[in-house]
Amino acid sequence: CGIVGYVGPRPSQDILLAGLARLEYRGYDSAGVAVIDGEGSLGMRKKAGKLAMLRDSLKDAALADGNTGIGHTRWATHGGPTDENAHPHLADDDKLAVIHNGIIENFASLRDELLADGVAFRSETDTEVAAALLGREYQSNGGDLQGAFRAVVNRLEGAFTLLAMHQDHPGLVVGARRNSPLVIGLGEGENFLGSDVAAFIEHTRKALAIGQDQIVSITPDAVTVTDFAGTPVAAEPFDVSWDA
Ligand code: GLU
Repeated sequence: CGIVGYVGPRPSQDILLAGLARLEYRGYDSAGVAVIDGEGSLGMRKKAGKLAMLRDSLKDAALADGNTGIGHTRWATHGGPTDENAHPHLADDDKLAVIHNGIIENFASLRDELLADGVAFRSETDTEVAAALLGREYQSNGGDLQGAFRAVVNRLEGAFTLLAMHQDHPGLVVGARRNSPLVIGLGEGENFLGSDVAAFIEHTRKALAIGQDQIVSITPDAVTVTDFAGTPVAAEPFDVSWDA
């Protein structure tokens, strides 16, 4: 029920956890984070229960520092609140991580298509279907994450705020929204994504609103917004008020 993404020079894990804590008011049953470290390998941890469970797990066994990261709090709709059903969901040999708020209405037919293709699933979620679809598309298009992401969101029906990152593309987080909210936070040499501004309010008051059926890519120095066809669109900047 909450989403945060970060790219920049700082270790992302604490930024993600603080953002998720600020989104706790929305309610959730599980939480997870994934980061891409300096060596370009992806680490992920997810836990059913309160954010404290995730924090404790990360204290017991830390993930490597990573400057690119995504974090999620889940309100289960497809599959119970278990560690395995928590987000992120991984694909492409665990090199790709996806988080999602909402419901993918056509997940069953997409899952059947992927099962027929030999894909194995580890969770009962609609989200893992989107992750697996992205992994397959990425493999078949020669490793173009943005192109694969665009192809996938065009196949999804329902409501989604979806973020993805791939360890072969450190410093890049892609996102999309349909019938579910997503905002960009603009920093200095760093950028943020959030399901609402609370996700990054400690770090920047400059934000960009993302419209319905739009795709965004963030790197530390640049932000691009397109429609689902890939045509650039102008995003609308706004200042987050101090009492937000
Ligand atoms: N439908 C997804 C799931 O059940 C996402 C739920 C959410 O919005 O947190 O895992």
